[in-house]
This record gives sequence, structure tokens and C-alpha cells, in this order.
Amino acid sequence: MPIKSLNLTLIDFVINMSSMNIQQYLTDLVLPSEVEWIALREIHETVRSLTARNGRSESIATQMNHGVMVEVLVNGQFAYAATNTLTFSAIQAAAEKAVLLARQASVYKIHPFTKSVRPKAVGRYQSSFHQAMGSVSLKDLIDTLIAGTNALKISDKIVNAVANALIFERNSRMTSRDGSEIEQATLAIAVGLSATAQDGLETQTRTNGLPCLQAGLEFLDRDKMCQEAQRISEQVLELLQAEECPSGLMDLVLAPDQVLMQVHESIGHPLELDRILGDEKNYAGWSFVQPADFGKLVYGPSILNVTFDPSVPSEFASYAFDDIGHKARREYLIQEGVLVRGLGSLESQERLKVPGVANMRSTSWNRPPIDRMANINIEPGSTSFKEMIGQVENGIYMETNRSWSIDDYRRKFQFGCEYARRIQNGQLTTVLKNPNYRGLTIPFWNQLRAVGDSSSLKILGSPYCGKGEPNQAIHVGHAVPACLFEKIDVFGGGA
Ligand SMILES: [Zn+2]
Repeated sequence: MPIKSLNLTLIDFVINMSSMNIQQYLTDLVLPSEVEWIALREIHETVRSLTARNGRSESIATQMNHGVMVEVLVNGQFAYAATNTLTFSAIQAAAEKAVLLARQASVYKIHPFTKSVRPKAVGRYQSSFHQAMGSVSLKDLIDTLIAGTNALKISDKIVNAVANALIFERNSRMTSRDGSEIEQATLAIAVGLSATAQDGLETQTRTNGLPCLQAGLEFLDRDKMCQEAQRISEQVLELLQAEECPSGLMDLVLAPDQVLMQVHESIGHPLELDRILGDEKNYAGWSFVQPADFGKLVYGPSILNVTFDPSVPSEFASYAFDDIGHKARREYLIQEGVLVRGLGSLESQERLKVPGVANMRSTSWNRPPIDRMANINIEPGSTSFKEMIGQVENGIYMETNRSWSIDDYRRKFQFGCEYARRIQNGQLTTVLKNPNYRGLTIPFWNQLRAVGDSSSLKILGSPYCGKGEPNQAIHVGHAVPACLFEKIDVFGGGA
């Protein structure tokens, strides 16, 4: 649709959570005496997606959804039923359905739960931002993206230039009959840049890796976008002329925007307790980690410290409580190289008898909460990026993930990156195209030789962590520094 046909006044959709008093509805629900615990969770989300391509606006879309999930505990069994009809009678009907489901499922329950896994909690969370949605016109937002695509177009060889923004507003309220009352509101944004260059049969694409934060519209800054566009477009032209990445065992330095993917796939997902329990087998699927590994497994050297930390300001998956009202706090998952804690909710912790975190999260009002990553971070080490490169005699430096593959138990992986440089005698030298590497999860992390200090740490994340059936694509954050690994199987080619 051409932009001229759109009304360019930004629709400042005010989330009117107060229009429905779910506390009163919860009080008024007529329930059988067998209900041991009940809560309502109201979620209201608006997602705006804006894209510009090659100097023009391409698409502007807004999705809004709003509904209520009823969660009950009956005969030691939890069950859920949701509605987006926001009336008392619809919520009463959903509650009756949830009770029926719980009653029927309780005959086959895998574990007799009590309301101890739904601790009473009261509190609020509001992400911080400087420019609220509505403070910048839609025309100005799309003009910034168009400027980004124009800044990418520094050569006729750049055949496709794209800039996009995803803006997420989410409000949730959870109230239970035993006194929990939680409200959480986030404004989050992801900003993407991508340039594809072609010369004869050679085609290369370079992106900014889609940085994302809990922030306001200030994150879509025109000057910063144009500076990033300059770097990306120069690098994609370098890749057209670059040598193929060599093959062999060599030292590997990963930039934070590839450490992100490494942590996500080979630490985050394997530590999810529902995978270890066997509940969750989709999307590469189980885990090599065993319950007895907690407290013992040497995941990496003592310089490897990995935390679950929902308290980092502006990180993409920060929150005060998970979706069952468990208060979230920073915890070590891997401490001085040893696996100490899993990514599992109070339910999974009770079933598996291992320590976990507050991570039972749902993507929307019509999905039950499950064990999810949130912010999974590598704590910074003591090595500056310059010192890290200086330690390498013969190696490769790689930036920005472009492909990934991992087996069903997350033991083996292979990743491809967009951009690489050779490291020779402690210096970054030639640009290399089509860099890849592969490894086995535990040996790979044990080949970690240096962790970047706080000057190389970047707060990154993704809106697209997929899990569950039906699918739940959720926000995750990864604050990670550059890392050096020794004797890694590197190879070139492919995509
Ligand atoms: Zn994921």
C-alpha cells in the first residue's frame, strides 16, 4: 500500500486495562469447592511493524490482542482456559471449562501439585523509556527507516537495502484469590538493518543482527542508524571481494552478536528443565543435561560465569515476576564453570528436584506459561577485546549469526556467520567471507580461553525464541562479551 493513502497520524492506542475489573470478576466467579487455587491473567499487547526498502516505505502494520487466561488447581492438577470476550459471563464460562479440564486431567496427572508452586505475590514492573509510543509521528518513524535504507545504498552493487522496526507494548495483570496482585508493563523495540550486495555470481548480505532492548522510540535514532548503515554497507562490499574462510582447527574469537546465539542454543535451551523432564521435545527438543549434572558438570573453565538475570535495566526480557507470580531475581546457572542451576519454574523444580529460576512465561493471554529463557548473560571477564585479539597467533574473528543447526539433544552444533577477519600474530587482518564453525557443546565451552571485559559487553536479545505447541515466540535477552575459544573446527563455504 503506498504510504500516501495512509492516515499518517499515529494511532496512540491507549491500553485501557482498567476498563475491566478482573479483581471484581475473580471475586464474583461461582466455583465448585474442589478448586484449590484460581487466578486470572489479563494480557494486552500491541505490536507495530514498520519496514522501509530501497528508499521507500514498504509496510506499516499494527497487531493488537487482549484477553484473559483463567488458571485453576483442582485435585493437584493445573488447567487453563482463555477468552478474549471480556465479559463476566465469558470469564465464568472459561473458569468452568478450566475446572472441567483440571478435573478430567487429574486422573492422569504426572505430579500432585499444591498451591505452594503459586506463591502469593504483590508488585509492579514498568520498563524504562524516554520517548513513549505516540511521542513521535508514524511519518517520522518511517522517514527514519527510509533514511537508513538510503544510507545503506553507497554503491550500485548494493541491490537490496532494508530497515525495519518492531515496537512492542505489553501490559499484563495477574490476580489470584489468595491475594496475588501483579501488574507489569513493558515497551520494547527491535531495529533491523540489512544490505545485500551482488557482483556477478557473488552475493553477500550483512545485517546489524537486529539489536533489541526494553526502551522507547529513542532507540530508533536516525544518526545512529545512518552510522550503522555506513558500517554495514562498507562491510558487505568488502565481503564481495573477500577470500573464502579457510578450514582447519584454529583459535576463534566470537563477537557478542554471535556469542548471543552460542549461549542461546548451547547453554540456554539445554538448561530448560522441561526439556530435561521430557515434556518439551519440539524444536531440537530434548537435552543432553541430566538431573544429576547439577552441581557437578564442568560446563567450561572457571572464567565461564552464566547468569539468569531479569533485573538488567533495558535488557529485552527483564521483568519483576514470571507469569505465575514467582518473584524473579538474578541467579547463577554456571558458576566458575560448574553447572549449578537450571532454567525451570517452581513446577519443574519440584518435579525434577533441581534448583531453578522464575521463568514460567507465556507469550499471550491464550497460551499457558512454560519454562522459558529470559535474560541469559555471560558475566564479563577481564580481557579487553584488543588483548584478546593480541593473544591469537593464527585464528579467525567472526561477527553476526547467519545460520544455525543443532541436534535433538543439543550436543553438536554448527553455526555460520556473516563476516569474519583473519587474526595473524595478534592483529586483525584480511576480511573473510562465508565463515562457519562447529563443535560439541561441552568440549567447546571447555575450550573457552578468554572472556571479554565489560568494555566488550553488549546487551542484545531476540524477539523470536520459539518453543511449544502451539508455538510461543517469546522475547529473550543476552548480555554477552566477546569470547576467545581455542582450537575450534572452522570452515568456509555455504550459507
Ligand atoms: Zn530459542
